[in-house]
Amino acid sequence: ARKAALSASTGPGATADGHKVPLLANVGGPADVPAAVEAGAEGVGLFRTEFLFLDDSKNAPTEEKQVEAYRQVLEAFPEGRVVVRVLDAGADKPLDFLTPADEPNPALGVRGLRSLLDHPDVLRTQLTALAKAAEGLPVYLEVMAPMVADRADAKAFADACREAGLRAKFGAMVEIPSAALRARSILQEVEFLSLGTNDLAQYTFAADRQVGAVSRLQDPWQPALLDLVALSAEAARAEGKSCGVCGEAASDPLLACVLTGLGVTSLSMGAASIPYVRATLAKFTLAQCERAAAAARASDSAEEARSAARAVLSGE
Ligand code: PEP
Ligand code: MG
Repeated sequence: ARKAALSASTGPGATADGHKVPLLANVGGPADVPAAVEAGAEGVGLFRTEFLFLDDSKNAPTEEKQVEAYRQVLEAFPEGRVVVRVLDAGADKPLDFLTPADEPNPALGVRGLRSLLDHPDVLRTQLTALAKAAEGLPVYLEVMAPMVADRADAKAFADACREAGLRAKFGAMVEIPSAALRARSILQEVEFLSLGTNDLAQYTFAADRQVGAVSRLQDPWQPALLDLVALSAEAARAEGKSCGVCGEAASDPLLACVLTGLGVTSLSMGAASIPYVRATLAKFTLAQCERAAAAARASDSAEEARSAARAVLSGE
C-alpha cells in the first residue's frame, strides 16, 4: 500500500502551499539514468563524473570517450537541468596521474578542484568535452567544482570554464566550512552553490567520513551543520542566486523539509529517495518547514534537532 501511495505521488517537488523545491537525482553515469527518470527526477543535481576516470588510474579518458558519456546523461533530461560536477579525485578516490602518493592526510591534501588546478590540461579536456556534449541540446547545463575553499578557487574555476568556451552556469560546491562562511564572496564569481553535506560534515567536525568510529559526527542533523547550510542559503538569497543540497542529507524526508525551511532551493539525492522526499514535502507548508528548521537550529545535538523538527511537523 505504501508503494502504491508513493507511485501516485508524482510531479514536481513542492510544499503543501506550492513553494517549489525541484527534486533532482544524483547519478554516477548513464547507467543510473533510467532509475532517475522512473523516480520522476526533475533533472540531475549531481553528476559524479569520477566513474569515467576510475577504470584507468594511469590515464585520463579521451575527450571522445567523455563526450559520449556526458551526452547520454544530458539527452535523458531534454527539458530539465543537469548539474555536472568536474572530476573529484583524491582522498577516497585517488588517481595515479593526479594525486600525490605521499600525502599524510589525503582528505586535507590535493583533491577535488585542487588537483584540477594543478593539472589544467585534465580540467580543460573535461570542460571541452562537456561543451561538445551539450552542443545542439536544449538541456540547461550547469557545471560545478568540488572542494572550493575561497573566492580565488571559484574564480579560477569560472575562468577555466570561460576559456573552454562552455555555455553553462558555473557553480561552486560548498563542502568546506570556509566556503559557507564566505559564501557571498564566492558568489561574486559563480552563479550557484550546491552544498555537499557529506564532506561539509567531515570538515566541520574533523571526522573522517570513512571512519565508522566517528560516524556520530557525520550526522547531518548536527545543528552546527544546519547553521552552515543556513549561512550558505541566506548568502545565495541575498545575491539572487540558487543554493541546492546534493549530499546525503537531502535524502532524509524530514531533513529535506528542514533544509527547505533553511532556504535551500533544490534537493538532489539517490533516485530511490525521491518519492519519499516528494511525499513528505507535499504534507507541509513552507512556514511549517521554517518553524521546523528554527527548532532544529535551536537544539544542542543531532538527536534533539531531529525530535524538535519532528515535534513541530507532527503538530505536537
Ligand atoms: C558531498 O560531499 O556531500 C558530495 C555530494 O560529494 P561526494 O559525496 O561525492 O564527496
Ligand atoms: Mg564531496
